[in-house]
Amino acid sequence: MIAGIKGGVCQSCAMPIYTADMYGTDLHGKKTEDYCIQCYRKGVFTDPDMDMFDMIDKSVAWIMNAGVYPEAHIRETLSEIIPRLKRWNIPVTTHYFN
Ligand SMILES: [Zn+2]
Repeated sequence: MIAGIKGGVCQSCAMPIYTADMYGTDLHGKKTEDYCIQCYRKGVFTDPDMDMFDMIDKSVAWIMNAGVYPEAHIRETLSEIIPRLKRWNIPVTTHYFN
């Protein structure tokens, strides 16, 4: 799930988007294709001040709630995925996590 992410995954938080009403909305209330409703409503990010690291923490916490994977595994996976999403747009070749 790391390579070629687009469509079907929120480009801010990396959550899978399964149904049309999970998509965020633009200024005019139309559905956007890029972001989920948790991240983006009426053309603005619901939490515009958060940075990429905040988002990784938040997403780790969400997935931890499901109780399926250990935190280290979730964090490692999200640290690969989230920097490459459209909202954060970090070059793939850049290594931010040592
Ligand atoms: Zn989202």
